[in-house]
Amino acid sequence: MSGQAVDVKARVGEFTNEPLVDFSQGENRRKMKEALAKVKGELGREYELRIGAERLQTKEKIKSINPSHPDQVVGVFHGGTPELVEKAVETAARTFETWKEVPYQQRADTLFRAAERMRRRKFELSAWMIYEVGKTRVEADADTAEAIDFCEFYGREMLRLGPPQPLTPVPGEKNYLEYIPLGVGAVIPPWNFPAAIMIGMTTAAIVTGNTVVLKPSSDSPTIAAKFVDIMEEVGLPPGVLNFLPGRGSQVGDPLVLHPKTRFVAFTGSKQVGLRISELAAKPQPGLKWVRRTVLEMGGKDAIIVDNEADLDAAADGVAAAAYGYQGQKCSACSRAIVVKDVYPEFLKKLEERVKKITVGPAEDPNNYMGPVINHSAMKSILEYIEIGKKEGRLLTGGVAVKDKDGYFLTPTVFADLAPKARITQEEIFGPVLAVIPAKDYDQALEIANDTEYGLTGSVYSKNPEKLRRAASRFHVGNLYLNRKCTGAKVGAHPFGGFNMSGTDSKAGGRDYLLLFLQAKAVSEKLA
Ligand code: NAP
Repeated sequence: MSGQAVDVKARVGEFTNEPLVDFSQGENRRKMKEALAKVKGELGREYELRIGAERLQTKEKIKSINPSHPDQVVGVFHGGTPELVEKAVETAARTFETWKEVPYQQRADTLFRAAERMRRRKFELSAWMIYEVGKTRVEADADTAEAIDFCEFYGREMLRLGPPQPLTPVPGEKNYLEYIPLGVGAVIPPWNFPAAIMIGMTTAAIVTGNTVVLKPSSDSPTIAAKFVDIMEEVGLPPGVLNFLPGRGSQVGDPLVLHPKTRFVAFTGSKQVGLRISELAAKPQPGLKWVRRTVLEMGGKDAIIVDNEADLDAAADGVAAAAYGYQGQKCSACSRAIVVKDVYPEFLKKLEERVKKITVGPAEDPNNYMGPVINHSAMKSILEYIEIGKKEGRLLTGGVAVKDKDGYFLTPTVFADLAPKARITQEEIFGPVLAVIPAKDYDQALEIANDTEYGLTGSVYSKNPEKLRRAASRFHVGNLYLNRKCTGAKVGAHPFGGFNMSGTDSKAGGRDYLLLFLQAKAVSEKLA
């Protein structure tokens, strides 16, 4: 191992998760308040595209708005066009020739320095998310912490994967295997973890020696622009990270289909993920490779409540996983499957908790739930609520919050659902929970597995044998026992699902960077 690798490794030490901010401390509440005031003064600015060293303006405009106060503009973005996609991919392809030669230790170090900057600007980054996507301070802080974790974790992972890898010795030969980058990657994140997922996918691609065209979600381009600033500040060469805001419907296809796009890293809905999968696989003139896709998609995640469960813990876990960030997490609990002996008691406990949930502007720390992301999400969730009223029994919620101008919905629980009802099968992506009775634990497991998704799941039971049965039969990428199904931590809970939840990748895990690399074996016959 080179001296430089040893130095960086010794300097950074072992990976540990970034601690969450303790808002019970007055000092932290003050810092958050100051950050909100500072960012408020910066709302509404214009942001340019960045391709190589150029900053570009276009006639296409994308307005990012605050879902708590839709008349407040968070940022105005010059949007990409198919011509600019061409320019961005060509620039990234040219820059790849030099970036891939930069020693892996130096690439890793860029991530460590970016993490340090983010740590220093933690409250400010969280404030941007409070305004841009309606996260409460606790949710925004967890997002920022996860973004820092991705930089720290993937930096260390690159130090592990960078040197030649061990091989079986063969007499008379010198053999080695090294991981090399792929080329230009299109990185297409969602808005719901606008820092963590966007930064995780982008830094994984960059640290492995690839170059990137980053197309942020049109609902959260500002936090992406702040990240691009940070990467510039820590000296990432121009052209490694090209920033191309634009409507997915306009720039998505040209970006995926460009013959020099070597891979696509996408997180978002099943519908868009499957479209990317199909387009990326299409043979075309000039295409020299089978494009790689890393697709992380939706979920219809279930928590099973067994008759041997601690019902208070289960009701706490279900309420937190169903309504944290308004249920807009791919890992959110949208189905509670409850064994019939404890069904009435569980419903009572759940209802008590849900009725206490406060809803309102995300910047107000008294609110547990903020708004849903935009008008079209609100409309679609309300349509599902109407469907739910026909399919099940509305226990609580089910309405838009009147007297407020943002996209606020009450936390909603439907009881007595059939396993195959639409609201128990389709991803709603909002604060709507379907509760399904099961005759026994085995049937609960069957119901849990009976959707097209397989992302997260959880079981509450005090019976160790039942927990073991879940570990072998509950088919999800992230299974939690006696805890809620949200809140995966980088390194500790490598994250990603099965079936229609994606391509079985594990963000924040030890095999994630391999998705952005290819292995080259070199064998030399010795004289
Ligand atoms: P989305 O509508 O699929 O959008 C995701 C990204 O794709 C956005 O940047 C969007 O850009 C872009 N896009 C839209 N149409 C495109 C096209 N034709 N070609 C290429 N890109 C296109 O999803 P979302 O509403 O942002 O996110 C919510 C979804 O993400 C949920 O289904 C959730 O379960 C899933 N999710 C999954 C995970 C996971 O780890 N499995 C994590 C988080 C979220 P525009 O914004 O410009 O439309």
